[in-house]
Amino acid sequence: MRFVHDNLPQRVCFGSGEAAASLQREIENLKASRVMVIAAEAEKDLAEGITKNLPIAIWHEDVVMHVPVEVAEHGRQAAAAAQADVLVSVGGGSTTGLAKAIAMTTGLPIVAVPTTYAGSEATTVWGLTRGARKTTGIDPTVLPKVIVYDATLTLTLPVPMSVASGLNALAHCVDSMWAPNADPINAAFAAEGIRSLADGLPRVVAEPFDLEGREHALYAAYLSAVAFASAGSALHHKICHVLGGAYNLPHAQTHAVVLPYVLAFNGAATPEAERRIAAAFGTSRAIDGLQDLRRELDAPRALLDYGFAEESIPEAADAILPAVPPSNPRPVTTGDLRRLLRAAWSGADPREGV
Ligand code: NAD
Repeated sequence: MRFVHDNLPQRVCFGSGEAAASLQREIENLKASRVMVIAAEAEKDLAEGITKNLPIAIWHEDVVMHVPVEVAEHGRQAAAAAQADVLVSVGGGSTTGLAKAIAMTTGLPIVAVPTTYAGSEATTVWGLTRGARKTTGIDPTVLPKVIVYDATLTLTLPVPMSVASGLNALAHCVDSMWAPNADPINAAFAAEGIRSLADGLPRVVAEPFDLEGREHALYAAYLSAVAFASAGSALHHKICHVLGGAYNLPHAQTHAVVLPYVLAFNGAATPEAERRIAAAFGTSRAIDGLQDLRRELDAPRALLDYGFAEESIPEAADAILPAVPPSNPRPVTTGDLRRLLRAAWSGADPREGV
């Protein structure tokens, strides 16, 4: 074994029903006295319930998915006008994303309170959208100093969104197995993430108010993001990035649909990843484990269900090709991408080949 692995410096506070107390303690630890709470209208009640004891300088609700530059600028101006000295984000990846955009230019520390399984809170990846073009980058400044995980805050996440978001986390795990900086440490995180999602998500579907199922999913969301942040973006994420940015497809659902096709495409070319993923699912083949889980969850099925047009396939394939990492376990051609996208568009069985 030979590898170089960086761990990201973060404090992780995990406890159901403990967000309010954890936040109070962590804001005191940071010696902050002017909190900017970032929470979309839809998550405002959740945020109010856990920030009562904080020295709040300003509430900010202007959250938009994929962080348009105007929304980022509005947030930065609001932070400056309120003389905020810490950002507390309460919400999904879109909310964390806005906090990151503000931190990027102001250097303000973030305390992230995630309410989905997107995992943005544990990565140094930021994203901004100008018009229809989404740009992402890596900057250590945007990494939240503290994450407060409280599964009670995810109980209100509707089951279909929980499934899509959980499969977004699963995609971080699977894709990190063959990502450019894959190593045994992030593979271990990813494998435990897969195991915990395969355990937790069916429980969330069967009993959405079962806290244990939610805890397993949330714990796995963190592991998945750590694995992804360390291993880097691979074929699956490159495909979803283009689809999400250029065709305005919903983030988590796009990941949920595309993942089995990438696994079917790459799995056979990378026996070690195939073995690890299958073992985490407890099945003899990785794709069987994923498809069994997807059936149990009634997972998002096809890109056509989200408005992706068949005519866009050639253009999308051409846009994805230059972004495919050279380290992908098998070479990728435009023809391969067209076949993969067509299968994902129609929802064909990935086991029949892509
Ligand atoms: P989101 O944050 O847009 O949330 C999806 C929907 O769920 C919204 O309508 C929101 O109001 C609602 N919601 C969130 N929490 C809820 C709760 N507890 N109860 C009820 N409703 C709730 O979606 P997302 O999938 O979490 O995040 C997607 C965004 O995050 C994308 O822009 C994506 O690019 C980004 N992302 C970034 C990274 C990264 O590492 N930078 C990783 C993953 C995702």
